[in-house]
Amino acid sequence: MSDYLVKALAFNDQVRAYAIKSTETVAEAQRRHYTWPTASAALGRAISATAMLGALLKGDQKLTVKIDGGGPIGLILVDGNAKGEVRGYVTNPQTHFDLNEHGKLDVRRAVGTEGTLSVVKDIGMRDYFTGQVPIVSGELGEDFTYYLVTSEQVPSSVGVGVLVNPDNSILAAGGFIIQLMPGTDDETITAIEKRLGEIPPISKLIQKGLSPEQILEEIFGANNMKIIEKMPVSFTCTCSKDRFSNAIISLGNDEIEDMIATDEKAEAHCHFCNEKYLFTKSELEALLSEAR
Ligand SMILES: [Zn+2]
Repeated sequence: MSDYLVKALAFNDQVRAYAIKSTETVAEAQRRHYTWPTASAALGRAISATAMLGALLKGDQKLTVKIDGGGPIGLILVDGNAKGEVRGYVTNPQTHFDLNEHGKLDVRRAVGTEGTLSVVKDIGMRDYFTGQVPIVSGELGEDFTYYLVTSEQVPSSVGVGVLVNPDNSILAAGGFIIQLMPGTDDETITAIEKRLGEIPPISKLIQKGLSPEQILEEIFGANNMKIIEKMPVSFTCTCSKDRFSNAIISLGNDEIEDMIATDEKAEAHCHFCNEKYLFTKSELEALLSEAR
């Protein structure tokens, strides 16, 4: 089944919620970047959260999440938009450690805890919103929660999880975001806090094969919420040979002449999806004539 996310309202519309099944999306990232399990979990959690943050946007708006925790994985960079398209990479995809004391992939150790999580939203008309918070956990779910609470000032709870098979492929991935609307009554806040304290960790819910709808039912109770929208989610990159051609042209005559003289070819690499584009000598010559 393809990935999707749902938007929901709960507790008489006082609570806004999102839940995602991102297994195929994270699996695509794993295959493209050859990530090892701990790196897969870190990238997959960031991808799942970013896809849900994208669902909070409208139209052509998009966002970039950058996590720089100072750990061995290096930088985690993920792009998302309002259409459910997401793409991302990490500096060191072959990062893996033994399981932590809870028997889980040690995402905190890979990500590090000395650094920042930043979000840049392109909200259209050359208008940008930027928010940055220190890494508080390194496990990423709590870090996204801290970002939403501190930077966007919306009381929120984020849960994201990724399960990896022994052969490094992705078994399952998913998550949720719960947000309290202004004026949520104390009774509701208490009820949700209690539920969040009682439910199994998100990784367990995913392992049980719960759908996004079922994850939210687990949190709110089936009679206490309504799904208002469902949208597909996928790993989608915007790169193309055309785009790289334009980038090469913009380098100018001298650079292109130099490429032809030195290598007689050029290879362009997209960090986001790990796709490589080869330009032959004759293709470079054609770009050179366009650059002139
Ligand atoms: Zn790409």
